[in-house]
Amino acid sequence: MVNAHVVRLAKRPVGLPADTDFAIVAQNIPSPEDGGFVVETLFVSVDPAMRTWISGEDTYRDPVNPGDAIPALAIGRVIQSRHTRFPIGAVVRGPFGVASHAMSAGAGVTLIPDGPAEMIPHHLGVLGISGLSGWFGLTEIGQVRAGDTVLISGAAGAVGSAAGQVAQIAGARVVGVAGGEEKCAWARETFGFDAMIDHRAPDFAAQIGAALPTGADIVFDNVGGRFLDTALANLAPRARIVICGGISQYNSAARQGPANYLSLVVKRASMAGFLVHDFADRFPDALRRLSAWHAQGRLIGAVDVIAGLEAFPRALAGLFEGINRGKLLLAPNAKDGTR
Ligand code: NAP
Repeated sequence: MVNAHVVRLAKRPVGLPADTDFAIVAQNIPSPEDGGFVVETLFVSVDPAMRTWISGEDTYRDPVNPGDAIPALAIGRVIQSRHTRFPIGAVVRGPFGVASHAMSAGAGVTLIPDGPAEMIPHHLGVLGISGLSGWFGLTEIGQVRAGDTVLISGAAGAVGSAAGQVAQIAGARVVGVAGGEEKCAWARETFGFDAMIDHRAPDFAAQIGAALPTGADIVFDNVGGRFLDTALANLAPRARIVICGGISQYNSAARQGPANYLSLVVKRASMAGFLVHDFADRFPDALRRLSAWHAQGRLIGAVDVIAGLEAFPRALAGLFEGINRGKLLLAPNAKDGTR
């Protein structure tokens, strides 16, 4: 038996999630039966979408209700096993939730390839759903081509930084947007983007216009709200607007839609959303490609790790305050993170 701790939803948040919206509950995990195994969690993916799951609204998955454990993709080390594919010691990625330990029968679980320990967290970032979202959003929905100018919001974050690098590898010019001068400088230096613009700058719209003299061929949007309206005012003819997410709206009950949508008519542009999970059957191929670029140093992964299961509410809220650089992870059993 393992003494585990699990984060559960205590009540639905109003606005920014708070500590009191969650509870840490002790739970005993029995020894696995045939076909089962137990992991000790190394890293939990902290995702903006969690805010929509816990709001009770209609999303692409079942809502999380008060009392439910918070679902999450995570990486763990197998500590007890009666499963032939996942022996003790294996490092695996799966839907283990926000928890110190988890029991699994293997559904949705994949083995993390052998490699140095510092590679492990990237399998929840640039070599995981974040990288895949950047890849499929830009190539399938954005149809990125050499010579395109690509405008990306959340460009210092997990998906945005991956999308920007995929665009650059395809031969596009990348204009990224992030919050704060320091973060912009960091993203320019770390990922080599052609330009970074601070969305908090008072002349943000003017800076976007100056950086896109002939407009954006692709807008890859993670944020929505004011960014999306500014982007719509700066399109190239036949632009493709890829709606990956809209984090600026997730805490709000009354969501702000784009006022400038008629630019789509004038510019003969198209706007489409996507869900990366719709491409699941192509994940192995895409991951091979992303892994090769990562190994060659052409695709940089950045991870930002917060230690301790009790830090989960702060980590989730932090996404909305822009505390993270790159992929935000929680290390539930660790004493020290990277911050
Ligand atoms: P992330 O970008 O690593 O972190 C969130 C970032 O959003 C923050 O660091 C902050 O960066 C920015 N932000 C927060 N509130 C903002 C606001 N009001 N205005 C402008 N920027 C704001 O998160 P991620 O995991 O990569 O996710 C990015 C987006 O992709 C989210 O919308 C998520 O839901 C979506 N997503 C979609 C799919 C899909 O299949 N469609 C899959 C994965 C993720 P700054 O400090 O730069 O403001």
